[in-house]
Amino acid sequence: MRAIAEAVAPSAEGLPGAEEQVPVGAPMSRFMADLPPEVSRAVRLALRLFERLPFPWRFSRLSLEARQEYLAKMEGARFAPYRDLMLLGKLLAMMGWARDERVQAAAGFEARCAVAEGSPAPRSAPLGSLEPLGDGEECDVAIIGSGAGGAAAAVILAEAGLDVVVLEQGPHVGRHDYPTDPLEALPLLYRDAGMTIATGRPAIPVPVGRAVGGTTVINSGTCFRAPLGVLADWSRSAGVGWATSLDDEYEAAERMLQVTPVDTDLMGRNGQLCMEGARAIGASGGPISRNAGRCVQCSSCPVGCRIDAKRAMHVSYLPRAVAAGARVRAGVEALQVRIEDGRATGVICRAGSATSAVEAAAARNGAHPSLRSWELRARTVISAGGAFGTPELLMRSGVRNRHLGSHLHVHPAAWIGARYEQEVRGWEGIMQSYYVDEWESRRILLEATFTPLSFGGHWLPGVGPELMARIRDYGKIASIGVHLHDRSEGRVGRSANGSLRLSYRLRADETADLQFGIARAAEIHFAAGATEVYPNVGPVQVITRDRLADFEATRLKPADLRLEAFHPMSTARMSSDPGEGVTGADGSVHGVEGLYVCDAGLLPTSVGVNPMMTIIACSAHVARGLAGELC
Ligand SMILES: Cc1cc2nc3c(=O)[nH]c(=O)nc-3n(C[C@H](O)[C@H](O)[C@H](O)COP(=O)(O)OP(=O)(O)OC[C@H]3O[C@@H](n4cnc5c(N)ncnc54)[C@H](O)[C@@H]3O)c2cc1C
Ligand code: SF4
Repeated sequence: MRAIAEAVAPSAEGLPGAEEQVPVGAPMSRFMADLPPEVSRAVRLALRLFERLPFPWRFSRLSLEARQEYLAKMEGARFAPYRDLMLLGKLLAMMGWARDERVQAAAGFEARCAVAEGSPAPRSAPLGSLEPLGDGEECDVAIIGSGAGGAAAAVILAEAGLDVVVLEQGPHVGRHDYPTDPLEALPLLYRDAGMTIATGRPAIPVPVGRAVGGTTVINSGTCFRAPLGVLADWSRSAGVGWATSLDDEYEAAERMLQVTPVDTDLMGRNGQLCMEGARAIGASGGPISRNAGRCVQCSSCPVGCRIDAKRAMHVSYLPRAVAAGARVRAGVEALQVRIEDGRATGVICRAGSATSAVEAAAARNGAHPSLRSWELRARTVISAGGAFGTPELLMRSGVRNRHLGSHLHVHPAAWIGARYEQEVRGWEGIMQSYYVDEWESRRILLEATFTPLSFGGHWLPGVGPELMARIRDYGKIASIGVHLHDRSEGRVGRSANGSLRLSYRLRADETADLQFGIARAAEIHFAAGATEVYPNVGPVQVITRDRLADFEATRLKPADLRLEAFHPMSTARMSSDPGEGVTGADGSVHGVEGLYVCDAGLLPTSVGVNPMMTIIACSAHVARGLAGELC
């Protein structure tokens, strides 16, 4: 790791060098030690491969210049696995290096989250005791998972007078506890410390949250309703008739989360440049609506909102559910739904993991949590562990359905950065601020999204001095995310040792759609004044305005793209036909009484826009139906 970091980020352009001034190997080794064993094994294997690849030489024994030359060749290699390996090495090196305050200061970067003057002060109500009691508890409804779907369901059911317990395997992390160091924040707030990766060509990282509040704790707060065409398709093709009548649920969620459109004067240059470029080429779009009121100045959304401006579930729905009598239990992993005579009767769990940031830090420092068996007896069970957690749990519980874990959609996304002559200082604006929906018919949505240096540095092309020059000018980089409304599918499964196994296969025709979207993002950047664009496509690292047509004419293979994804969905999809889905239109699991799903897994297809509001709306609808039955 040290040898890679030194070569990727040497001291240059006034930036302190990796290992020379900024230790990277030691903190990254500690970070890797905290990863779940199977993830840690995979990363270490990749690093060993790196070391042996320049056979007969060893990578770490090459001179600095030879290592840089080797890495540059890997980055531009025609053979995709070389590029994937290089991207992983660069990502780890950047994460370890760019977190250092000296690096951030040299790049001019400052994270200062704040709300606009005159906005109401962000507030959050208490969640009560999060400690699981004794060796078990009892309730009417057990909800496994405290994210968007689980929390929304908890409010409806608790307010209907039912006794509700919400189980969450992650800890509760409050506004005073968010670490600023990504190497501490990732293991605390994300599943697999953010290293959840779907294998395939290309391999796609798909991070998800693991904390009280689920992924909403670390998401960007963007709020969209699903396009009407998508909801009509769910109604028609999946037999989910109510999908076209979700207006009331969306309205209630928007009220609850205080959703407002971003103020274009406050959104910052990253969004404004996207808006100016889109307008210049006549592309339709608008300011994004968010659940963070009038927050300004950002970059911290992926590691938690330190001022609670963002109405994540642990500061919005969950306190409301608790006020109505619900109990939230943190550090409790549901191992299996107890199913007796075809009916769910409770949840078999392991309790005793960290319930707070303080306990999580103690565990990282060697304190052994005393894990214990724990059981929640319930009349009804709702799985709300997200698009990965739900199939994982239901498979462990013996639910057999060929659609379970299949049809994984993720909205594959490409980060398209560009360099401008003017200052952008993307961190002085709202992270996700302006959308362009002109190309909805090609299933493409663009969103101006600024990424903090520690999470975005590896997307810039080059290594060594070339990369350092770009990082020195990070303040002049703007970025647009290109999202695909995917029909391509993946799969959630379990490996022999029971760990999560993900795969995703990008279709050739959708590769062409993504390439089209990347070209449109580049066009917008150029129209707004960019001098060069970074398409994040293996064989093409930089596009200039005069080469855009050539880029479009190049036929790309799926493996040529470098993608990430944030919206896993559809792994327990609803269909009124038991032969076509895992759950019925009422959210109940086909073939098991008293077992429901309320999370991203429910969605019959990909949504095409950021899914949180649709997950909330669908889960609330399912919970309302269930409350009607149980009360
Ligand atoms: C970086 C990032 C940014 C994003 N930005 C946006 C955005 O701006 N707008 C938007 O609409 N969407 C965004 N998303 C996606 C959005 O946040 C998710 O789609 C949404 O939160 C999913 O809701 P869910 O209820 O399905 O699962 P989650 O919110 O992921 O909650 C599931 C919870 O269940 C817990 N769990 C799982 N299994 C178990 C078990 N066995 N026992 C106990 N607990 C368990 C997990 O720890 C987790 O906390 C973003 C995602 C990421 C990663
Ligand atoms: S919502 Fe995000 S950008 Fe806004 S104040 Fe919170 S962390 Fe900062």
